[in-house]
Amino acid sequence: MTLHGYPTTPRHSSYDVVIIGGAIMGSSTAWWLTQNPDFDGSILVVERDPSIEKASTAHTNSCIRQQFSTELNVRISQFGADFVNNVRARMGDDDRVPNLKIQSFGYLYLADTEAFADTLRANQKVQHACGAATELLTAQDIKSRYPFYNVDDIKLGSINRVNEGYWDGATVFSWWRRQAVEQGVDYIGNEVVAITKNTQGTQVESVTLASGEIIACGQLVNASGPRAARTAAMLGIQIPVEPRKRYSWVFKAEHPIDQDLPLTIDPSGVHVRENGGGTYQCGGHSDIDPAVDFDDFNMDHAIWQDHIWPTIAKRIPQFEAVKVITEWAGHYSMNVFDHNAITGPHPEISNFLFLNGFSGHGLQQSPAMGRGTAEWLTHGTYKTLDLTAFHFERITNNAPILERAVI
Ligand SMILES: Cc1cc2nc3c(=O)[nH]c(=O)nc-3n(C[C@H](O)[C@H](O)[C@H](O)COP(=O)(O)OP(=O)(O)OC[C@H]3O[C@@H](n4cnc5c(N)ncnc54)[C@H](O)[C@@H]3O)c2cc1C
Repeated sequence: MTLHGYPTTPRHSSYDVVIIGGAIMGSSTAWWLTQNPDFDGSILVVERDPSIEKASTAHTNSCIRQQFSTELNVRISQFGADFVNNVRARMGDDDRVPNLKIQSFGYLYLADTEAFADTLRANQKVQHACGAATELLTAQDIKSRYPFYNVDDIKLGSINRVNEGYWDGATVFSWWRRQAVEQGVDYIGNEVVAITKNTQGTQVESVTLASGEIIACGQLVNASGPRAARTAAMLGIQIPVEPRKRYSWVFKAEHPIDQDLPLTIDPSGVHVRENGGGTYQCGGHSDIDPAVDFDDFNMDHAIWQDHIWPTIAKRIPQFEAVKVITEWAGHYSMNVFDHNAITGPHPEISNFLFLNGFSGHGLQQSPAMGRGTAEWLTHGTYKTLDLTAFHFERITNNAPILERAVI
């Protein structure tokens, strides 16, 4: 039997590495394992819906930024940008892989309070120290560079136009998955419904599939996106990751802007960016932002009318006349503890690895996170970028790494 072209039954009853979730994080990890000359084990990726139509990866805005408040997140994105800009070379000079380029219109953070302006100033110092090209702009600077904005209430803006903007994450994902399969990774369309530990409770031994098979595994990776907490709970582990609904709209403007629109983050949190051809992409969420059901993708049409459109029309008055062409709801796998990734092994069950909680910035982190997780699976340590700061222990130690630049 197959599901969306993938077999539902694994070829073997035992694998060195099993990955739960075959969207961008699971596929990046599988692909990086195939590239690691020191790894010669077997890999199974279990994906409950290989169409990935409900995954965060399918609902993403697919943008990358250097403007983070922590050095590690800046470095992770810098590697992400390098990977995207050299994707064909990185993927073995495979001439089926297209050359990609980041459309660097930049993210423009707007501050309407001195407190947030101070945060932008502090963030810029961190970013500059990593070599990022972030510029701070006064309201006048913004107006002279981008005359279409209303900046009456703006104290400061922050923008970086190098390696910051849209990139084609869907293409990178599909080539990771395709090359991984070609290099011997088994992908199946099935669901992990239970995980078994050894009698001491110190090691994962197997996963149980929805179809009933029990598959032994040497190491197990939780790459299950918004369902990450549900997967961890199969081992009795609690992680602070919740599905949070995020809405997107693409609209056509009657009076398009005659230059690229940066990904503009209004102080209200509503964001809007260039989408090409006189269209723009916009995102936001409701003020009350509860965890939602895994299968709740209902649109709230009132939000556009009552909140999103008035906000963007106030910020960019020529967006008074716009027409929505498409809209969708997706889920962030929100780390409600500190908005940052949870990576690496569980401290007691050391062959169970997290790859969770990416909130709104997982797509751009997928090259570095897949590489780092593959390093850990192979060597039990990181060989390139040290991701230890994102390990699970910070949660049990109540030591958040708060990311201040979130969307
Ligand atoms: C509206 C929106 C806009 C975004 N914009 C950006 C952006 O501009 N830039 C950026 O960097 N990031 C962005 N993100 C975040 C980014 O898309 C995610 O962080 C990233 O896609 C997470 O990938 P993932 O593989 O961890 O999770 P997912 O893509 O959700 O994949 C998890 C997979 O696990 C599978 N799964 C779950 N449980 C099981 C199980 N028990 N058995 C088998 N399979 C299972 C699911 O079916 C799913 O396919 C955005 C997200 C959203 C929703």
